[in-house]
Amino acid sequence: MSLPHPPVSTTRPLFGQVAVVTGASRGIGRAIALALGRAGAHVVVNYRTSAQAAAHVVEQIRATGGKAVAVQADVTDPRQVEQLMDAAVALGPPRILVNNAGTAKSRLLLDTTLEEWEELLKSNLTAPFLCCKAILPHMLREQYGRIINISSIWGIAGGSYEVAYSASKGGIIAFTKALAKEVARAGITVNAVAPGAIETEMLAMLSAEERQALESETPVGRLGHPDDVSHAVLFLASPSASFMTGQVISPNGGLVT
Ligand code: NAP
Repeated sequence: MSLPHPPVSTTRPLFGQVAVVTGASRGIGRAIALALGRAGAHVVVNYRTSAQAAAHVVEQIRATGGKAVAVQADVTDPRQVEQLMDAAVALGPPRILVNNAGTAKSRLLLDTTLEEWEELLKSNLTAPFLCCKAILPHMLREQYGRIINISSIWGIAGGSYEVAYSASKGGIIAFTKALAKEVARAGITVNAVAPGAIETEMLAMLSAEERQALESETPVGRLGHPDDVSHAVLFLASPSASFMTGQVISPNGGLVT
């Protein structure tokens, strides 16, 4: 059994730690995978359909001297989640899980179908539930773990035309706080990162006017970069963040305070 508090290197503080990042083929997940890789983690780059993009992320991590492997799995499917975690465990005890994979849809509540509602809850809430259930036995055995759930400012403040998305992202905040209490004594921390508007393909659904409005409403005067999120995740994933649990960190440029 490995030590509950592994020795920390200042240059590669996550050296050798197996880290699973869901939805890491692009956007925020990609930035998180690269940051964890630079910090020395052995990264499991999960993707659903973007095999080529995921392979490129793996190449980039290896190019900086890190270790990574791409694993295809739809994280809304319990069987595929088990396979994803089996692939991680084959590399060593998984110490870090970042539940990043998610989908968004902008709709008035009255235009939202039951199928759309269920789809959003499945990808943004059920998937993290499945991933946590599958990884926790390994973390409990090691008495160490770092779980980071990617929420959204709309999970804190509620987004207009995004009732279903906001409900799923608010749900993951409550999930985070409750699970943090359940596993705290086992050396496992559970935190949420709730980004503001970040430049990724997810923002493609916004019109030019909507983007501009978001930019000017954001006190720092710009949209976020995926690395604005990965920096927060890197902190929460580090062994030294052992007193941070059940918290929500929101890199949002001051949009929601
Ligand atoms: P994105 O560019 O649309 O990327 C989504 C990623 O999730 C892709 O890698 C996609 O993989 C993966 N994915 C989606 N469903 C999946 C599933 N069922 N199984 C496995 N992988 C799946 O999104 P993003 O902007 O980077 O967002 C990442 C997270 O941050 C999401 O949870 C999102 O809600 C949250 N967030 C984003 C923003 C923003 O402004 N961008 C703000 C706040 C919060 P494939 O390409 O292989 O399908």
